[in-house]
Amino acid sequence: MCLGEVRRRGRRTSSANLRRVVSNQHLPSQGVSSSSSEPTIILGAGLAGLSAARRLAEAGRPVLLLDKGRSVGGRLATRRMGHAVFDHGAQFFTVRSDEFQTEVDQWVDAGVAEVWSQGFGPDPDGHPRYRGSSGMNAVAKHVADRLTDSYDNVTIVTRTEANAIINDGEAWTVTYQGPTREPDVAAAVICTAPIPQTLALLRAGVTSVEGLVDLQAVRYHRVIAVLAALDRSPELPEPGAVQQPADPSFTFVADNQAKGISRDPAVTFHLNPNLAASLWDSDDASVLAAIHEDLRSYLNGAAVTQIQVKRWRYSGPVQPHAERCVVAATNPGPVVLAGDGFAGSKVEGAFLSGLAAADNVLAFHQSLA
Ligand SMILES: Cc1cc2nc3c(=O)[nH]c(=O)nc-3n(C[C@H](O)[C@H](O)[C@H](O)COP(=O)(O)OP(=O)(O)OC[C@H]3O[C@@H](n4cnc5c(N)ncnc54)[C@H](O)[C@@H]3O)c2cc1C
Repeated sequence: MCLGEVRRRGRRTSSANLRRVVSNQHLPSQGVSSSSSEPTIILGAGLAGLSAARRLAEAGRPVLLLDKGRSVGGRLATRRMGHAVFDHGAQFFTVRSDEFQTEVDQWVDAGVAEVWSQGFGPDPDGHPRYRGSSGMNAVAKHVADRLTDSYDNVTIVTRTEANAIINDGEAWTVTYQGPTREPDVAAAVICTAPIPQTLALLRAGVTSVEGLVDLQAVRYHRVIAVLAALDRSPELPEPGAVQQPADPSFTFVADNQAKGISRDPAVTFHLNPNLAASLWDSDDASVLAAIHEDLRSYLNGAAVTQIQVKRWRYSGPVQPHAERCVVAATNPGPVVLAGDGFAGSKVEGAFLSGLAAADNVLAFHQSLA
């Protein structure tokens, strides 16, 4: 997608064609109601933001979904090096709720997801682990495409980073980093970025977060992913992946070729969060030097042809917040915090958190009706 690209109902437009937004210098003081006509702005087009957008769109609410990334998906991330394709964020997902199962069944019917394994190691627990059929990011893209193809009232904008959420008295105004987009006015805001980033957006808009003590306490694991393209398969044990939560070097090692998403041998190594934290400020060469011997032990003699390091500052919460979402402000409309930092965490938790946040916004509109 190009700079500030806009996805809307299967066609591509420039942001200039969007509904009018206020300029930096002329924030509205009158005539803007947080009641009905203004959209809900959703920050973050990972799975939480996408599921929130769909629930609001289904209910007929206008939605503006923005993400700072080049594409939708967030931590449902897939990267290519030639014909080597790597899932480098989430590796798989599980399903425990009926609501998520209904959604995943749709993904399976559409051919974008399938069961990868019933567990890892010599004694799989039999619980299905799903993968994106051509990578995890394709699942998010499918959800986004379905949204823009099915609903007129949803606009998705990528490469646009919010830098503040401002209460201007009668509505919320979201401002952005750089010149890519003028501020937008919203009846409600749903923030799905990791909690520390969301709190920073509220602080930047001079909304107090001092009362949100539980949220300030949520910490995230850092993970470093190392992506290695190989000259031949390393022949990892079935199903082509090893999960070792207690291993001092790697918690997960997966051959994306055996997984079925890569033409060429392509192995993702996730460093143990403790090791990742200790190497966080080291440069890539130092990270690779520190893990060199342990990495080789998984290669079965295969040679590395290309290698990359990717850092995830917020891979997942150490301990998620107890609720599915939190309403951080109610006036002039709700600001709801959601994402995998809330109950459930992981891919499924993010999906359910987005739905819960949207339900809060819908309840607000119903209370005005
Ligand atoms: C290394 C790793 C391994 C994982 N493994 C698994 C696994 O095996 N199974 C599993 O279930 N889960 C796993 N997870 C967790 C899973 O990926 C997440 O729980 C889930 O994808 C989070 O979705 P989300 O929508 O809450 O957040 P995200 O996907 O992070 O989406 C938030 C979005 O907000 C955007 N954003 C942030 N700030 C701004 C801003 N200021 N303006 C605009 N946009 C902004 C970001 O670009 C991002 O796209 C893993 C994660 C990582 C990183």
